[in-house]
Amino acid sequence: MKKVIYYLLVFISMISFSSCDNHGSVESKSTMESKVSEIVSSLTLEEKVGQMTQITLDVFAIKGKNGDRVEPVILDTAMIKLAIEKYKIGSVLNTVNNRARTTSWWYNVISYLQELSIEETGIPLIYGIDAIHGVNYTAGSTLFPQQIGQGATFNPELVKELNELSAYEMRASNIPWTFSPVMDMGRDPRDPRMWETYGEDIYLVQQLGAAAVEGFEGSGDNIDNLHGATCLKHFLAYNSNSGKDRNPLSISVRELKEKHAASFQSAIDAGASTIMVNSGLLNGYPVHANYEILTELLRNEMGFDGMLVTDWADIENFHERDKITDSEKEAVKLAINAGIDMSMVPYNFRFCDYLIQLVNEGEVPMNRIDEAVSRIIKLKIKLGLFEHPNTNYIDYPKFASEEFEDKALEAAIESITLLKNNNNILPLNKDIKVLVTGPNSNSMRAMNGGWSYSWQGEKVDEFAQGYNTFLEAIQNKIGKKNVKFIEAVSYKNDSKYFEEENIDIVSAIKAAKKVDYILLFLGENSYCEKPGDIKDLYISENQNKLAHAMAKTGKPVILILNEGRPRLIRKFEKEMDAIIQTYLPSNYGGDALAELLFGDENPSGKLPYTYPNYPNSLLTYDYKPAEKQEKQEGIYDYGSDVTVQYEFGHGLSYTTFAYSDLEISSNQLSPDGLINISVKVKNTGSRAGKEVVMVYTSDLFATISPDNKRLRRFKKIDLKPEETKVINFSISPRDLAFYNYDNQLVSEKGEFILRIKQMKKKFVLTETIKFDKPSKIRL
Ligand code: BGC
Repeated sequence: MKKVIYYLLVFISMISFSSCDNHGSVESKSTMESKVSEIVSSLTLEEKVGQMTQITLDVFAIKGKNGDRVEPVILDTAMIKLAIEKYKIGSVLNTVNNRARTTSWWYNVISYLQELSIEETGIPLIYGIDAIHGVNYTAGSTLFPQQIGQGATFNPELVKELNELSAYEMRASNIPWTFSPVMDMGRDPRDPRMWETYGEDIYLVQQLGAAAVEGFEGSGDNIDNLHGATCLKHFLAYNSNSGKDRNPLSISVRELKEKHAASFQSAIDAGASTIMVNSGLLNGYPVHANYEILTELLRNEMGFDGMLVTDWADIENFHERDKITDSEKEAVKLAINAGIDMSMVPYNFRFCDYLIQLVNEGEVPMNRIDEAVSRIIKLKIKLGLFEHPNTNYIDYPKFASEEFEDKALEAAIESITLLKNNNNILPLNKDIKVLVTGPNSNSMRAMNGGWSYSWQGEKVDEFAQGYNTFLEAIQNKIGKKNVKFIEAVSYKNDSKYFEEENIDIVSAIKAAKKVDYILLFLGENSYCEKPGDIKDLYISENQNKLAHAMAKTGKPVILILNEGRPRLIRKFEKEMDAIIQTYLPSNYGGDALAELLFGDENPSGKLPYTYPNYPNSLLTYDYKPAEKQEKQEGIYDYGSDVTVQYEFGHGLSYTTFAYSDLEISSNQLSPDGLINISVKVKNTGSRAGKEVVMVYTSDLFATISPDNKRLRRFKKIDLKPEETKVINFSISPRDLAFYNYDNQLVSEKGEFILRIKQMKKKFVLTETIKFDKPSKIRL
């Protein structure tokens, strides 16, 4: 019977979709709505609750003696029957045994589940995966630099392209939905998920997040077979200013809206289909239970009408971890009434049992269930899952093609950031001898980071054999015989990410005598989420010793950093002749670095965060004036709290750029006016290069203490030697807005300074403008 409903719906959807293509969005919206309500009203309560349930694939695989699932994977048909026939679940996520699988494996497993699901419920499943930097749970896929490196490109067009390719490869894996991009702000350098963000700046994250969504989802109301649904995460203010994964955080509504909701808003406006919720507590209360955040703010103030999914086991957490309910059933009630549409349960079916009981007892209203299920069904229709529940890898010939892999190399080259280059020691000649040393020099795992073939990235070496480590790429560039390799410190790969072994600094000192340069690779091994928490932001003691020892040899030392967050290097930074930040550049990081080191490419990455130099001075560039106490005399010398190792936006090139002729169209900005800005940039060096032109503003006085400065516009440009370009921008009063005491978005009249590089212009906003009503949110 259900199968009949399915075919009927496919038929209706084909007719209505062909008509909505021809008749604009008003009709297509109402066609969609009537189709959704037709399906929802045909479902029983059990079927509706099933749609709201997401289970991890591990549950469907036979367990071995050690608790892991057996390999090769054997599907547990009894469990699958229970999930689909009894509980009628609507979604599955993740992989088995935390391991990447081939496209044909994915095709076979997911199409089997789809067949059963359609047979039983008439509704296709929606499969979700963490495709974080490419479809990283598919063997052989193209992996791009992690988000923090993409942030360093300051290049929205490139980020859009990477997401298009990622979506294509995800569809080639028969998966329509990714839990990406991360719209959280990378504002705390201790955060183990810093590298999953686009960095600390609101405007940069807004621009790149919107580009990611556009690239991944494509244009139009529906999502075709070459694109997929995105999931912005983790709403809201996840891990900011706490430094530990999933820690409680106290925050004002003002900061929440201005510094955290803004990035989500931009990605919502770009068309993001789904959102995942923050696993932590805000002001003592789990976000997953917070009606004001999930419904008042997200739905009513921000206008999100897509589907809202929990993070991993977060409803259980109210009871198990947060102790805010004395039963799991009460936790389910709180979450669903707060606005959750789908629960990433992910290991059992208690959620279904409890939710059915709660509806029958009148504790969760049926209209809340219908609202949630409607959003889920709408998403499935939008993805075309009713017409084609599966996408077959044989229809995706560009999977891991040269064209895609070239983009990964290009992105790695654009992300790598030159932080220091004393006496223009870089680029190096190719006829030299080098010592390659340090724990990051020969590790595909460290180069990729977490979410690479497995959650923690510990299986990378098994899957990424075909690519070059930093060492291998350097050997390819200048010949093996010119490269001496002594690792000197190694990461312990079968242990915690921060453990090191095989310490042999003496051999590195000896080897240094026979070379011209030392290439020192320091940083971190791969980690992800909670296991990546740290106790000390300084780089490890062994690596610190190695750096000092290499500097003492008297040979020039080029430090190459490969790390998910800025580990402090202050203790030896001055002893280094040049410093390069590679972030987590992924499989082409080695080749990209070799191109840059030896001058075949010119660096253009810019730091997407402030690189701190002290563990207790972790400031973002947009700090408040009070964070910079002026120096006073004698014992009252406060020292400067704002000294940093490298500023946000810093990044050198092998060429030089001269900025001149900053002009603004007026020094008066009226409420409905614009200020047009122009600036000349000239390449004054002898190489072609890319530069990121950045426009900052500072509000001189405001009713809420204004930020030091804020990035308002940027543009990445290409310049040949001697070439000059005039770059134009414009800003409006809204670009200057902040949240006032009433949590209302305002631009207050008064003086502002606009800065490009060292040049400044003053202008006045002539009137105060209020852009919205005071927020209803209390926290
Ligand atoms: C993470 C999410 C991820 C989810 C599914 C959670 O532990 O916080 O970012 O999408 O797992 O794998």
